Amino acid sequence: MISTLQKPWSVKKQVHLAILTLALPLIVLYVWFYQHVKQETYHNIDETLAFIAHNTAMQSVDRQIKDIKNSAIALATQASPSESLMFVNSDESNLKKIVAYAINANRHFTNILVWVEGAGFNSIPKIESPSYDPKERPWFPRDTLKNNWVRFSMPYSDEFTHHNVLTISKNLNDEQGVRYGALSMDLDLAAMSLPLKEIALPLNGKLAVVHHSGQIVMHANPQEITLQIAHPEWLKQMTDAEGYFYDEKAGIHVYYHSFTNPDWHLILTVEENKIEALIAESTQPMLILAIVTVMLYITVAVLWNTSLQRMLSELLATIRSGSMDEKTSDLASVYSEIKKQHRARAEANKAAIEDSLTGLFNRRYFDERLPSLIENRVPFFLAMVDIDNFKQINDRFGHPVGDEVLKYIGKTGQEIVGPQGLLCRYGGEELVMLILNSDTSSVVHLLDKWRIAIEKKQWHEAGLHVTFSGGLTQWQGETAEEILKIADDYLYTAKHNGKNNIVTKA
Ligand code: GH3
Ligand code: MG
Ligand code: MG
Repeated sequence: MISTLQKPWSVKKQVHLAILTLALPLIVLYVWFYQHVKQETYHNIDETLAFIAHNTAMQSVDRQIKDIKNSAIALATQASPSESLMFVNSDESNLKKIVAYAINANRHFTNILVWVEGAGFNSIPKIESPSYDPKERPWFPRDTLKNNWVRFSMPYSDEFTHHNVLTISKNLNDEQGVRYGALSMDLDLAAMSLPLKEIALPLNGKLAVVHHSGQIVMHANPQEITLQIAHPEWLKQMTDAEGYFYDEKAGIHVYYHSFTNPDWHLILTVEENKIEALIAESTQPMLILAIVTVMLYITVAVLWNTSLQRMLSELLATIRSGSMDEKTSDLASVYSEIKKQHRARAEANKAAIEDSLTGLFNRRYFDERLPSLIENRVPFFLAMVDIDNFKQINDRFGHPVGDEVLKYIGKTGQEIVGPQGLLCRYGGEELVMLILNSDTSSVVHLLDKWRIAIEKKQWHEAGLHVTFSGGLTQWQGETAEEILKIADDYLYTAKHNGKNNIVTKA
């Protein structure tokens, strides 16, 4: 604690650390929330797009393919060799009515054609071009053995109508299963694409039905039909009936559904940046909240810091009793101020009870302790000591030497008496000693030891010889004045006896 308070900058550091520590959970929470929203968004988008791809494939594409195939099979079933021949050769036949009905009833069909081997062809509507030969057409079925497949050609632009179409074709077989002719139906791909227009795609998604070669078969925008898709390489990855992959280079998510006959794929694509924009939009309120929280938090921290500073400076002012000499008011200066004040008080306390020359306790202290010992009935001896012929010493050797003599006697006396004794300067060259002991002989011995030590002391000053006299008495229930008077009387006797001796009760 103290070591940190001693350095003012470390308090600031601690505050910064506290702010950071408290802000950390907020940052972690935001990162966690962002990741969570991101994952949730991806998950939801994935589910939605997979669902749309599947549903569109089934409802808007597969159903039409099935209808077209069923129509082709139904027509082929109605077309017997004789009926077909009549259709080719005359304008009045049963089959013609059925074909006319099929054309009118179904918006996909732009042309239905029946061809009979060796007899030629006829169609609704009629193809007027003399050069037209179904056998030259790319869709024309080449196999002559029984084959009930309904074939789908590649999409192309019809040279007469300029519509984007494809042709489905089917062999017409006799009862032995040998082909006698063929049936073909042109499909208007723009009409087929109409259901795609009605689908609302999220995230600006794109939808297309593509031939395995990469040519667009169905598209909400008719202009796109028969064009190549931008990423034909995707088709290699469409190996499952349904699936998803991400084109990292293009940044496009691809959902697909594969059809078998025709060899088509429904492709639904969404750009990654559209998803990112959505995530950014979803996390924006949280980001704003986080920024506001951090700002509030910093404001609170600053206010808190300011009020702490003010508190500290007021505290400091109080400690200094209103004096504000230092500008800074941090914990460290409060601490150093307390220390300073404490030291000053200790010095003042010490000065109040200490004699500045000798370092012994002073008269005031003695005057407090003596009655306190008496009041508490602590057994003690009182010795009163006076330096012999001190005036002469001063006169012969000078006042400073007198001072040194006084100091030395005090120091020696305190050393000899040790912790049981308390030596005070009573006034001038008179000392008083309180000895917390009840054994008379040991106290007498102690006093004599002190006296002899001074008597024997060899001083630097030639001719200097120092002694002292003393009066010693044991406290026996007297008042302070009484015991002082007794000691003083004994001291007087000692001086009268010729000095350099200690008088005590006989
Ligand atoms: P006696 O043996 O009868 O005690 O003779 P004395 O000369 O010691 O007695 P007196 O009381 O006449 O003299 C005391 C002297 O002590 C007077 C004074 O100048 C001196 N004195 C008192 N306090 C100090 C002090 O702090 N320093 C010094 N150097 N002298 C002091
Ligand atoms: Mg004296
Ligand atoms: Mg004296």
